[in-house]
Amino acid sequence: MPDKERIVFDDIDKYGPQSYERTYQFTTDELARIELVAIGPVSLIAQARKGDLPAEYLADGSTTFTADFLCSRCVEPYPFANSSEFHLRFRPRPEVSEENDEVEITPDELDIEFYTERSIPLRHLASEQIQLAIPMKPLCTESCLGLCPLCGANKNGEGCSCQESAAEGRWGVLAGIRAELAKKNEQ
Ligand SMILES: [Zn+2]
Ligand SMILES: [Zn+2]
Repeated sequence: MPDKERIVFDDIDKYGPQSYERTYQFTTDELARIELVAIGPVSLIAQARKGDLPAEYLADGSTTFTADFLCSRCVEPYPFANSSEFHLRFRPRPEVSEENDEVEITPDELDIEFYTERSIPLRHLASEQIQLAIPMKPLCTESCLGLCPLCGANKNGEGCSCQESAAEGRWGVLAGIRAELAKKNEQ
């Protein structure tokens, strides 16, 4: 029986293309992203088959999950739903010679994953897709106003009066200059 927790290349060789349907649960600790507050079950579907090149295998599929991300401006959690497709190409890791220990990778090979072991854990694929779906700077809304730099209040809510007093401060300076000028003119 083909393994259903991993894409096993030998199974594809033996039984032909394989389909997978799996649900995985991750902890936020495991995913180690400060932007991630909570995450629900991740469902993954995939089909894997032989590629055109010898020892090449292809996997196409998608992952779906819901999570709570931390907004990078107002630092409040907000709900997020993601569904993303993946198209992966697995090729054997090229042999590294002693003189040349860096194998050149041409730009069109960037979506290729080089394998050393002939099986790919699906749970690992799912976690990779989650990592890709987490933005560098998550925003609860594009127009999020963030926090007041003076008092830390969330400006999306009731806000604070810092801006007003900062404005008063500016007028205060102006009033001071006016007073100075007036004094000079009297002299
Ligand atoms: Zn926000
Ligand atoms: Zn404030």
